[in-house]
Amino acid sequence: METKDGCDPLLDLPNHIGGEEVFATGGDWIINNAPSTGEMISRIPRSNQNDVDNAVKCAKEAGPGWASLTKEERAGWLDKIADILEQRIDEIASLESLDTGKPIRIARAVDAERSVANFRFYAKQIRELEDEEFRMKNATNRVLRRPVGVGALITPWNLPLYLLSWKVAPAIGMGNTVVCKPSELTPMTADLMMKVIKDAGLPDGVVNLIHGTGVEAGGPLVSHPDVQFVSFTGGTTTGSIVAKDAATSFKKMSLELGGKNATIILDDCDLDRHMEAIVRASFLNQGQVCLCGSRILVHDSIYESFKQKFVDAVERLQIGDPRNPETDLGSLISPQHLEKVKSYVHLAIEEGGTILTGGGVPSISSEFEGGNWISPTVVDGLSPESRCAMEEIFGPMVTLHPFTTDEEAIQISNGTRYGLAGSIWTNDSTRGEKIAKKMDTGMVWINTWLHRDLRVPFGGVKDSGIGREGGKWSLGFYSEATNICIMDD
Ligand code: NAD
Repeated sequence: METKDGCDPLLDLPNHIGGEEVFATGGDWIINNAPSTGEMISRIPRSNQNDVDNAVKCAKEAGPGWASLTKEERAGWLDKIADILEQRIDEIASLESLDTGKPIRIARAVDAERSVANFRFYAKQIRELEDEEFRMKNATNRVLRRPVGVGALITPWNLPLYLLSWKVAPAIGMGNTVVCKPSELTPMTADLMMKVIKDAGLPDGVVNLIHGTGVEAGGPLVSHPDVQFVSFTGGTTTGSIVAKDAATSFKKMSLELGGKNATIILDDCDLDRHMEAIVRASFLNQGQVCLCGSRILVHDSIYESFKQKFVDAVERLQIGDPRNPETDLGSLISPQHLEKVKSYVHLAIEEGGTILTGGGVPSISSEFEGGNWISPTVVDGLSPESRCAMEEIFGPMVTLHPFTTDEEAIQISNGTRYGLAGSIWTNDSTRGEKIAKKMDTGMVWINTWLHRDLRVPFGGVKDSGIGREGGKWSLGFYSEATNICIMDD
């Protein structure tokens, strides 16, 4: 990470504080490179405590005015933001693809569309939200949902605008004001969102955004005494630091953390029908989705045929130019992350595994030589208790493990510190549901994966996080329930 003085209007993204575009008070910059080529695409302010203080102050000042609007008025603002974002949907997809290295097709269908949908969805949810009433024999209780105050919204690099909009929309919809801190590795669409918010004419200070590192900008934001709630999505290790920093002043907290999800293939699974979806569940976004199934547990009666079909399907994936609409897999996010994934490939061999496919650099055009590339990797022969099968790799690498009984599959699935998601593939959905109920995860899909209804709870158990987002769960987190009990006359 380099820092430089001065500023280049073509390359430099600003912070957005109180409706103004400003640079870091310290004058420092962080270079942002394209993951697919290694070339510099932008610079972001290296914000520090002063910048955090300024952003929180603006959010605090904007609070009372924003909170005084009706829910219909706030929902109207969310719809307006969605409309303008939608006009720029192709730009969102291109920027996200450039900034993350993911294929443009995925950036369009997953990231861009969902970012618009998040604002629309929460506009509708907030419009439909009713105060609850509980009648007693001689009194009435009215439960109101009030804003919490100023929120810190901290997001990772794998689904940048998708996850940021998933927090901003319900947070401001419920009457809070916020300071966002997107990942320093993927700042581009966060900047676009702020420009859209400005174009929409949202009151200044309702949404503020500072760029910077986790330690220099994220840490001070989480600890700030005027921040009342923290919504964090990122790694489990970071999540535990954030939890500690937020706990001392009893901030409300939502933590969406890492995973090591199991994909369970039962003996009655129709492999030909489901193989494409199972491969997608393993390698979408180069395996850099918290929900990806990185441990595939296969009934031993079909293990060999699954292995053959799976490896064939993985080898058919097209890896290369993220701008090409035919591309299935792009590059990893950073040189450091590539090194981490490669270290797990080496570890797999040390642990006695066999690399069935991948593990090396794919053949790609010279334009991408400076990027962070690795072929999708499938490993066989490792114990479910090996480090490769227990630790989150968060890349295009999966391990295969045979099992004999449904109970054994459940036991392996539950055997890690994580508990985010899982999927089960079977011709017998009743049997699938029985297994799902015994899995220690927040979410299970049967014969599908990442099939999202935005009304349902999203989140993990164990070291995968605390709390739930989605639908009424987000509305609950981003508000304080207050009961007023009125005695009958
Ligand atoms: P990360 O934890 O390194 O960073 C996430 C964000 O936290 C970034 O904005 C970073 O700058 C900030 N940060 C870092 N240190 C901080 C600190 N001390 N205080 C405050 N903020 C700090 O995660 P990442 O590498 O960006 O993302 C990958 C991880 O995110 C994976 O573990 C993945 O499973 C997880 N993830 C989880 C979900 C989910 O919904 N459960 C979704 C996406 C990603």
